[in-house]
Amino acid sequence: MFDVAIKDGVCFIDGRFIEANIGIEGNRIAYVGKEEIAGELEIDASGKFVLPGLFNAHTHLAMTLFRGYAEDMPLMDWLEKKIWRAERKLTPKDVYWGSMLGILEMLKTGTTAFSDLYIHMDEVAKAVGETGIRAVLCYGMADRGDKEKAEKELKIGTEFIKNWDNAFNGRIKAIYGPHAPYTCTPEFLKEVKLKANELKTLVHIHVSETKQEVEEIRRTYGKTPVRLLEEIGFLDDNTIIAHGIWLDDEELEILKKKKVSVAHCPVSNLKLASGIARIVDMVRLGINVCLGTDGAASNNTYNLFEEIKLTSLLQKVATGRADALHAKDVLEMATKNGYKAYKIDGGELKQGKLADIVLLERKFNYCPVYDPLHSIVYASYGCEVSHVIVDGELIVEDGIVLTMDEDRVTSKVESLKEKFSND
Ligand SMILES: [Zn+2]
Repeated sequence: MFDVAIKDGVCFIDGRFIEANIGIEGNRIAYVGKEEIAGELEIDASGKFVLPGLFNAHTHLAMTLFRGYAEDMPLMDWLEKKIWRAERKLTPKDVYWGSMLGILEMLKTGTTAFSDLYIHMDEVAKAVGETGIRAVLCYGMADRGDKEKAEKELKIGTEFIKNWDNAFNGRIKAIYGPHAPYTCTPEFLKEVKLKANELKTLVHIHVSETKQEVEEIRRTYGKTPVRLLEEIGFLDDNTIIAHGIWLDDEELEILKKKKVSVAHCPVSNLKLASGIARIVDMVRLGINVCLGTDGAASNNTYNLFEEIKLTSLLQKVATGRADALHAKDVLEMATKNGYKAYKIDGGELKQGKLADIVLLERKFNYCPVYDPLHSIVYASYGCEVSHVIVDGELIVEDGIVLTMDEDRVTSKVESLKEKFSND
């Protein structure tokens, strides 16, 4: 008898969809196969598709508060004139409610884990604890050339790791998050990396998101961001870079050699006109690519199914080849590769893996089904998600998030709007 038995689903296993039963014991998958199984809790998955949970590998969760707040602006104006100004008004409680809304949206669209870089991170951690989702969290640090600030920032980042790493049965992984090479000096980044090595933790950073940023770094330091990071010993398999759009061949080789993971955020990259990342080349080289939404101010949703479809479409149009990427590879970017990047033992429907699992209902948009893989990658809205299990616990049932009051969260966030809207 398992704690949970998911019965008769069509499951994504080793890149293919096959009928199987899944047994869960505690927070791990204990059985995957064709045998009849029983559970304390039984979930009838007949007629449904079963996926490992989606991993949103780069976001700024509480930016749900700025969804629709600054539109149709270039990145630097958008940041300097609107977003950074509004963020100065954020209180810890605002970040809590913004995060609750973000988690609500992610759970309803099949995301079981996310990686967040922001401020007032204690509140994000509390929201993760209450709602049952899994998360990799970091305090977004920037020294901007100020030595005193550098010290303060590193102290906040380190304290956050010490207070929250491994909290809630290991559902939180706390890591370092220096914002970017254009907001952090090389000296500061070096120090962060040394500290990360000492604490045996990961580092999440924005790199080469815009052409201007690459030019600015080249003007200031005489080299491109990836070369600069390599030179200061920042790059290895404990590093996850977000975006990585403006990279030359040699930089791709460096990322490959150093086993750096890339969090690709196609919707945000299009919306801010940042560019199209070289995902096909990264896949060819064997670089671990995972998918993220970025913050809701530049997306404007946390629906990872949009990133899945767009990743595929963008690479087709960028390369002029409709067979540039396979649907299986893209679905794995959204599941297995995210878990791999952040060194969390999940993202696959396999015995022994963490039980982060999503069930999808066959709705009209999946009809007819020739191959579930193509239905899911190219025809999903996100509303097909019926059940979500994280760390062995059922937290979404028939589309309802069991761990929060949806109306309370949405009305709270709606009421916070006033504070930001007079800028
Ligand atoms: Zn970002």
